Amino acid sequence: MADDPTPAPPPLAESRRHQMFPVLSAAEIARIHRFGTVLHFKRGDRLFAAGEPGPGMFVLLKGSVTITQRDGLGHVLPIVTQGPGQFLAEVGQLSGAPALVDGHAEDEVDALLVPPGQLRALIIAEADLGERVVRALILRRVALIEAGASGPVLIGRPQSAAGGAAAKFLEPQRRTAPRGRHRAGHRRRRADGAVRRRRGRCTGGLPRRLGAGEPRRKPAGPLHGHGRYAEHPELFDVIVVGGGPAGLATAVYAASEGLQVMVLDCRAYGGQAGASARIENYLGFPTGISGQALAGRAYVQAQKFGVEMLIPAQAQSLDCAAKAIKGELHVKLTDGRTLRAKTVVVASGARYRRPEVPRLAEFEGRGVWYWASALEAKMCSQTEVVLVGGGNSAGQAAVFLSQHAAKVNMLVRGPSLAASMSRYLIDRIGATPISSCCRRPRWCKLHGDGNAGLSAVTWRNRKRGTEHDAECATCSFSSVPTRKPAGWTAAAWP
Ligand SMILES: Cc1cc2nc3c(=O)[nH]c(=O)nc-3n(C[C@H](O)[C@H](O)[C@H](O)COP(=O)(O)OP(=O)(O)OC[C@H]3O[C@@H](n4cnc5c(N)ncnc54)[C@H](O)[C@@H]3O)c2cc1C
Repeated sequence: MADDPTPAPPPLAESRRHQMFPVLSAAEIARIHRFGTVLHFKRGDRLFAAGEPGPGMFVLLKGSVTITQRDGLGHVLPIVTQGPGQFLAEVGQLSGAPALVDGHAEDEVDALLVPPGQLRALIIAEADLGERVVRALILRRVALIEAGASGPVLIGRPQSAAGGAAAKFLEPQRRTAPRGRHRAGHRRRRADGAVRRRRGRCTGGLPRRLGAGEPRRKPAGPLHGHGRYAEHPELFDVIVVGGGPAGLATAVYAASEGLQVMVLDCRAYGGQAGASARIENYLGFPTGISGQALAGRAYVQAQKFGVEMLIPAQAQSLDCAAKAIKGELHVKLTDGRTLRAKTVVVASGARYRRPEVPRLAEFEGRGVWYWASALEAKMCSQTEVVLVGGGNSAGQAAVFLSQHAAKVNMLVRGPSLAASMSRYLIDRIGATPISSCCRRPRWCKLHGDGNAGLSAVTWRNRKRGTEHDAECATCSFSSVPTRKPAGWTAAAWP
């Protein structure tokens, strides 16, 4: 009998089209009027452009607008055409982040422009309408990512340190189902002939970024414009260092009380939780929620209340000298800027202990990783992976990686998984045929060369006295955090 494969679920854009592209009634548009200004566009006029700061949300009163995407290689791909009663925006418009797509008037267009600040005010003041708008904005971002139509094109070798770092920053951080991704994604390309012909004014080494806006070499800074990358002279009520669950929760509660809040993070919002495939012990989510979805919701919630996000931005030190005189604290960033606040909340997470393995530092970012996201899963596709650790994070990583790798070798320092891992994860690992577990191993060697990255790992099974080799390009550590907060100092405490 022929196989009867289960049909793949329809893409998000089809299954939830009515929620993504709702048509507002005349009464609903009338409620939005006080938040915006009516603008007129002629046929062919551009309402917004990929890579340029988004002006806000447009509600179409007359005419239609086509949304297209540029791939940085000269191709223009149509996404959707919207007409009267529909609105044009995605999540980034809550903060005025650079647009991911272009919007052109198909004919004479009248549109109500609601700028980012007013859009946030609308969502809060008009709760039911706000809920529909926010849901549409999130679904659109997710659909763009699902369709591979969002974000820049990154060119360079995945194993290079710079390429890896840029991908890490751009990757909707974690390994969850695409529906959980609220961040902009990216696409990767090799530097083939087509790419080289499109280099344009961009000279020098890889990786390069094409797509939204101008090509940029070795991109640094806010590629997706989380926050204004400028001076911030204002005095914030609260600065939160760290955009993990603790930092985002702080920001939401503080901003919802009307305080002016800034969250800064040196990597990405979501923190470690963003790496979790499925969080099952979070109150209120009986079927579990992916870390990425949780982080995405918290991020949008924070934006709704007007929290400023500065990502990437790394706090280097806290200066309390001005607290007694002016009542303000100074947070110094590694890029030289200083931010001022009445209160600073440090939510920078924990720093991880590294095992003493020879040449470990040499392979960090070149085959040695400290978590298992979609990026690492791609790298270890159909190869062996060595996973070090026996806690819940290691358990989640083992279950996740076993869907991609040829074999998952778990190395556990303790006598058994039961000493450090939840029962449900042990059971799931037990049901995974491609996982093996070595307890109390002794490390021998990491093999490979510094440029090409890790190629193999050797360890010894103390109990049996046997030595094992795994030819693998990925070794993931899931070790125990130390009590130290991650990487910055407080100077001149009062
Ligand atoms: C793979 C994985 C799975 C997990 N699964 C679960 C689970 O199922 N259930 C559960 O309860 N817990 C789980 N955890 C643990 C949970 O994610 C953490 O307890 C939680 O994220 C801690 O939150 P936090 O905000 O305190 O710190 P973090 O999440 O560590 O966030 C700290 C943030 O601060 C930023 N930062 C650090 N230093 C600076 C600086 N100097 N300047 C600017 N920013 C800085 C970091 O980039 C980071 O984003 C998991 C963790 C991992 C890695």
